[in-house]
Amino acid sequence: MLDSVEHTFALGIHRITLPLPSGPKHVHCYVLPGDDGPILVDTGIGGDVDWPPAARIVITHMHPDHVAGARAARDATGAAVHQGALDYAQCERVWGSDDWPERMAAWFTSHGVPRESTDQLIEQGHAFRPFIRFVRHPELLYEGSEVGGWHIVELPGHADGHIALVRDGVLVAGDVLLATISPAVGLYPESRPDPLGDYLASLERIVELAPRIVYPGHGEPVEDPVGRAHELIEHHHRRLDQAEAALTDEPQSGFQLSHALFPGADSPSQRRFAVAETLSHLERLVAEDRAARDRAGGTVSYTGKQLGRRDPA
Ligand SMILES: [Zn+2]
Repeated sequence: MLDSVEHTFALGIHRITLPLPSGPKHVHCYVLPGDDGPILVDTGIGGDVDWPPAARIVITHMHPDHVAGARAARDATGAAVHQGALDYAQCERVWGSDDWPERMAAWFTSHGVPRESTDQLIEQGHAFRPFIRFVRHPELLYEGSEVGGWHIVELPGHADGHIALVRDGVLVAGDVLLATISPAVGLYPESRPDPLGDYLASLERIVELAPRIVYPGHGEPVEDPVGRAHELIEHHHRRLDQAEAALTDEPQSGFQLSHALFPGADSPSQRRFAVAETLSHLERLVAEDRAARDRAGGTVSYTGKQLGRRDPA
């Protein structure tokens, strides 16, 4: 049995914290009071968990630490499983197809990532996939759907199909808003074209929704969600300026440019995350007409667009 830590907040919101082998080292699942029984939000990475009773399970997004335990949680509780429609389509495409690691590797190659790293990605991708036990044919959720009295909002960016639940000023937000970490926003193959644009719009949406509190997938509850959303917006604007400053007239790949933005990403897998995150910033710069993308000989590269227009320092 996994060592879980439990905590109950106001309004009967119950948090179950499960250990993770890497990254933030833990993930939170929540049990929310619903109109027709408890709602379990997210399911951890799998393994043996003593799940409480639940009438429904809602998956916020298809990353392994949120969706991989879905089948086990469903089998333990008998609950109906709900997942965002776009998120489920991507879950099927990524975790349900035999050749996804190869497609991902080819895509990273086109962005300049060296062979040794993409070979590792293929190997690890195949080793990992059997452990992502998501539930097939869930009930699909959209913006405006309702589950047990909670309203569903789509907040894309960290994942294209990321959803969250809101009720009475409480936002159960998955990984959209974290108290101390900046949620990863990466570009990936066969995904929405401008994930950082999506994410910035989602942060603006949180400002509009103005929840009292956010219960996130990692770390402590966010007590000032609007302030935190503004902080993250500013963080990405600074990083966009940084990415723009790294562009020259000479075409550079996402891999090359990732070293300017993330000099400390040492392992091959950290470097791949850095490349995906760099690319989300580069694509936003392209959308803002601050960068140009070119594709020659199978390699994607970026150049600066405002170089001539910059004031001399
Ligand atoms: Zn995530």
